[in-house]
Amino acid sequence: MPTRLLALLLLVLFAAFVTLPLVSAQEATPDPVMPTPGLVASPTPIPRPLPLNTLTAERATLEFFFTELEQGQTGLLHVSGAGMAGARARFVNNLIDFFPMPDGFYGLLAVNMEQSPRTYDLDIFVWYDDGTRQTINTQFEVITGGFIKQDVTLAPDKAYLIDPEVERDELARLESVFSTITLERLWDSEGFQLPIPGGELTSPFGAFRTFNQSFQTRHTGWDIRATLGQPIMASAKGTVAFAGFMEIRGNLVVIDHGYGVFTTYAHLGQVHVTRGQSVNEGQVLGTVGNTGRTSGPHFHWEVAVNGGFVDANQFMLMWKPV
Ligand SMILES: [Zn+2]
Repeated sequence: MPTRLLALLLLVLFAAFVTLPLVSAQEATPDPVMPTPGLVASPTPIPRPLPLNTLTAERATLEFFFTELEQGQTGLLHVSGAGMAGARARFVNNLIDFFPMPDGFYGLLAVNMEQSPRTYDLDIFVWYDDGTRQTINTQFEVITGGFIKQDVTLAPDKAYLIDPEVERDELARLESVFSTITLERLWDSEGFQLPIPGGELTSPFGAFRTFNQSFQTRHTGWDIRATLGQPIMASAKGTVAFAGFMEIRGNLVVIDHGYGVFTTYAHLGQVHVTRGQSVNEGQVLGTVGNTGRTSGPHFHWEVAVNGGFVDANQFMLMWKPV
């Protein structure tokens, strides 16, 4: 009898020891409670560089593909472990869904170009098939983007586009396009390419721009050297989320690549695609033009992640295996 009692006591103690840390983790972070339902797992892997830092906590292994992030950059995170059902991260007040892949879950940590440079808390929530949840608390550094200053001169016939209200309205329209999240990955294992193969990047993302010595704004994409009529190609596979005209971006195509990733193609002459159409990487979307708020024919390329513009070139290079 005493042996059975001892065994029971040991069992109770063991159960308490095993479950207590999980219970306390749940109490410490009551929110968020569940990963976004409906995320479709990708059958193929993504192009993957080498991780630069690895953190192991209980059943989870967390890999960082960055050491620090500049303002406007995107960082790739990977979490894996036996019986893992989902993952999310919290950065400031943003909840970031991790997307399921054959080798675990990947998250895109997009830093706004205006995010103050300092150390930030990063909380990773991991759910398991047995209903338990684990929280990993870590930190990362946002450093200054070192953005340049530029003066832009617009011709009198385009000067009406120097208007904060026009800019605000257009941003609201774009944010509405970016807010429809496709729950599966549409881009393939080739990652993302320049819309003009071998094209020369000219005017950088994030630049502080002054138009006609009066109006100040930020450059939300990269300009690529181009000649009028040159074909513009899709950076990666996706669906056309917008094809039409906007005041500042002129003739514009927006491609939805899934999991909250969008690319935009602005100031086009002709547009060859329509909304809802599927496009392949390298498919011609239209031609270089001089429409919208331009000081001459050129091509403007943007990437948006989780609703905000990020450095398109850094985003593209992030996926390249080293
Ligand atoms: Zn531009």
